[in-house]
Amino acid sequence: MPSAPKARKGTFNMKETVLAEIKQKALEEHIPILMDDTLKEMEKYLKKEKPRKFLEIGTAVGYSAICFSRYLDENGIIDTIELDEERAKIAKINIKKMELEDRINVIQGNAVDVLPNLKTGYDVIFIDAAKSKYPIFLEEALKLLKVGGIIFADNVLYKGYVLGDYNKHKQRTAVNHLREFIKLITQSDDLETKILEVGDGLAISRKIK
Ligand code: SAM
Repeated sequence: MPSAPKARKGTFNMKETVLAEIKQKALEEHIPILMDDTLKEMEKYLKKEKPRKFLEIGTAVGYSAICFSRYLDENGIIDTIELDEERAKIAKINIKKMELEDRINVIQGNAVDVLPNLKTGYDVIFIDAAKSKYPIFLEEALKLLKVGGIIFADNVLYKGYVLGDYNKHKQRTAVNHLREFIKLITQSDDLETKILEVGDGLAISRKIK
């Protein structure tokens, strides 16, 4: 049997191992990272879209941004925002380990403050941070997204609380804001939206005008 090109295969396997370690460590530390079935759904779109400018709200330790970087256009970049200083630091280290520091730019700060200062023109925006801020993130994301671009939002069904009659105090604020978010994305004339029951609920909204 002809042997495979060793250098490329070796590099690929090494990167896969590093990514698997990043994922494993995040899971062990209970850092909420993107679920496999949610990633699979997003991949279907990203393969076609090949984004040049991708914005992520909620980096955690960089796991999802690293996964998304595979689907960027060859000159594509990801800006990703993380509130927590320690997580942003770890994300930068992980991104460096994956040799992706030229493609993924970690911005440490509160997305509520960072978003109004970003330049417009994103092809894809992924919302995956504080649930109670989703309506604010959406308002800013709509200004930053190109017509034809897509907003993905994770956790919109929040363990089934959002569509049920859940009204307990602990998560009530988050649940109410997610309900408001769903109302905004499904009733907007500028968006075409579908909500998938994968992971914790994934909303996919295309900006049509
Ligand atoms: N996208 C990451 C992944 O799949 O690998 C997981 C992100 S995790 C679900 C949410 C992250 O959002 C947390 O690390 C949290 O610190 C961050 N976060 C929460 N509120 C934020 C805010 N207002 N601005 C920026 N980041 C925020």
